[in-house]
Amino acid sequence: GTKIVDEIMNELDAEQRNAVLNSFGKSVVIAGPGSGKTRVITYKIAYLLANGVKPSDILLVTFTRAAAREMIERAEKVTKRELSGMLAGTFHHVCNVLLRRYGSAIGIKSNFTILDEDDSVDLMKFVRSKFVTSKQMSKALPTPNELYSLYSYMNNTLQTPYEVVVKRAKRWINVIDIIEKIFEEYITEKEKQNVLDYDDLLLKMLRLLEENSDIRQRISSQFKWILVDEFQDTNILQLKIVQLLSQVHSNLFVVADDAQSIYSFRGARFENVKEIMDGANVFKIQTNYRSTDKIVELVNSMIPRSAVPKKLRAVRQSLQKPVVVNTYDHFDEARFIAQRIIEHVNEGANYRDIAVIYRAHSHSLELQLELSKRNIPFRLLSGLRFTETAHAKDVIAFLKIMENPYEIISWMRILKMLDNVGDVKAEKIANDITATEDPIGQFLKLNVKSSNIDELKNVIYKSLGKGPSEQIRNFYEDFYRNILEYHYQDFRDREEDIERLIEMASFYDSTEEFLSELIISEAREAELDRNEEEGGKVTLTTVHQAKGLEWKIVFVIGVNPGDFPHFLALKDGSIDEEERLFYVAITRAKDMLYITHSVLSRSDYFKAGKIERDFVEDIPPYLVEYWRVR
Ligand code: ATP
Ligand code: MG
Repeated sequence: GTKIVDEIMNELDAEQRNAVLNSFGKSVVIAGPGSGKTRVITYKIAYLLANGVKPSDILLVTFTRAAAREMIERAEKVTKRELSGMLAGTFHHVCNVLLRRYGSAIGIKSNFTILDEDDSVDLMKFVRSKFVTSKQMSKALPTPNELYSLYSYMNNTLQTPYEVVVKRAKRWINVIDIIEKIFEEYITEKEKQNVLDYDDLLLKMLRLLEENSDIRQRISSQFKWILVDEFQDTNILQLKIVQLLSQVHSNLFVVADDAQSIYSFRGARFENVKEIMDGANVFKIQTNYRSTDKIVELVNSMIPRSAVPKKLRAVRQSLQKPVVVNTYDHFDEARFIAQRIIEHVNEGANYRDIAVIYRAHSHSLELQLELSKRNIPFRLLSGLRFTETAHAKDVIAFLKIMENPYEIISWMRILKMLDNVGDVKAEKIANDITATEDPIGQFLKLNVKSSNIDELKNVIYKSLGKGPSEQIRNFYEDFYRNILEYHYQDFRDREEDIERLIEMASFYDSTEEFLSELIISEAREAELDRNEEEGGKVTLTTVHQAKGLEWKIVFVIGVNPGDFPHFLALKDGSIDEEERLFYVAITRAKDMLYITHSVLSRSDYFKAGKIERDFVEDIPPYLVEYWRVR
């Protein structure tokens, strides 16, 4: 009771406390980076629990699953009780859970499988090929990748194909009719195959809430409190979803920094912050607890345009100014960073206290080589997710056909593993069997000349109705192992991954739950990596993935015109977003911030003289030290 409440309140400053205690109804905490927004949500949960609110009454929406887990652990620690039954995670996760429970009202079967982005592109390719009648036509149409981006952007901004093409891709205006038909067919295929893509999780959820007032009433009665972190990166669908979900109790508590909105390319709109502030209790926090005063001074001088003044007060003192480092090219830059990392570690830092942040994943390649050469351990937050590696995708495809045998793309993936079965044959078989009532039965009866088809049939037959761990084991031991060994030199590493998958799967009774966890929980390689050795690893990450996180020592690298700000930003006039990205990047640092740039940039655009904007020139010289390494 009150003792715990006192303890909770002692961990917050007056402004933060006010936000926790006095937020009823619709409330918005709007504040700059490192001011404790995420902390306020965490303590709000603890406070609600200490006041008798049940975990199942709360819905928590975060940017990653890992963030939700951390917040829950923290809230458990302060309230000294276990917190189970709370629905928490990304919008996609939350919608997935709710759609399985209530989606039948709009015709969604509870055993739907989810297409990740790769699978969606594959399905788009499959559909597109039905419309392509000549080479010429193929050239005139967007690629499957481009089609999927258009389609996704259209969904996340609630626009029509025509609107999106006119605004973002005029070059395809001549083929708009075909694009529309491809999208229609793509939707039909998804329904036929009982699959939802990522966008459907949001779209269908919104439809369910809009069209079915009984269910809207039921779900929104359940959630007495809805808490959302990083609200500045929500899109229009997500805004509508939280508005409908909070209809009954109206206790919607969101935290945001509009100056950190960095996902507009995916349809996020920082206008959501303004809209949600309308008629809400608005709370401000103005102290930065993360960074030293010297870093905060620089941060204060670089604040992007924003609806609310964001100057922050620092509490942590330091003598060390941020450092701007000038190198010759990105090889020099990589050597400098590796060297500095070694020096910091020699002075007592741990690898895990250090992060290198860049605008695009490809900007990290030289650095990766340099770190490997010097045996500096690192992990990537950006780049391929574990579940996007070929071998993990193969295993997932097998689980998917066991769970939902109508999914064509997964069948094609599995069938192509058979000897004597190429793309064309795999597509034909997948098409034929998924058009029947009982695809698995059809497959077991299939007559194809292939040396390993009997093994696959056995594995499938044996795995029917089994748990995910046993299914993977069957698939691996009796069929896939041979293929993996034959195809990959790094077979041992991949085998280890699969063993980890088997182990992870053993915590799940149902294949459906395990798949959902894998596909939408952003399960990254780093998270699977359990053997956390002493000093940990240096983190390499894009700005987008670094959102909300913090490290003692941060290198923001490749700050060159054309690289960061990225040259693509100029094309669609999103230089404002680049400024927000730079702001997010430099605000991750607690003790020490390096900003590196080089004489030679990667960008051809720069060489052509098209990019004038140089973030390094925006930095007030008296706030930083300049180092020259060449
Ligand atoms: P971002 O905008 O980057 O997401 P944020 O506003 O969510 O930042 P937090 O991550 O919650 O900020 O807090 C930043 C750091 O400051 C964390 O290490 C947090 O523990 C610490 N912090 C926040 N409030 C306080 C406080 N009242 N006393 C001590 N430390 C605090
Ligand atoms: Mg935060």
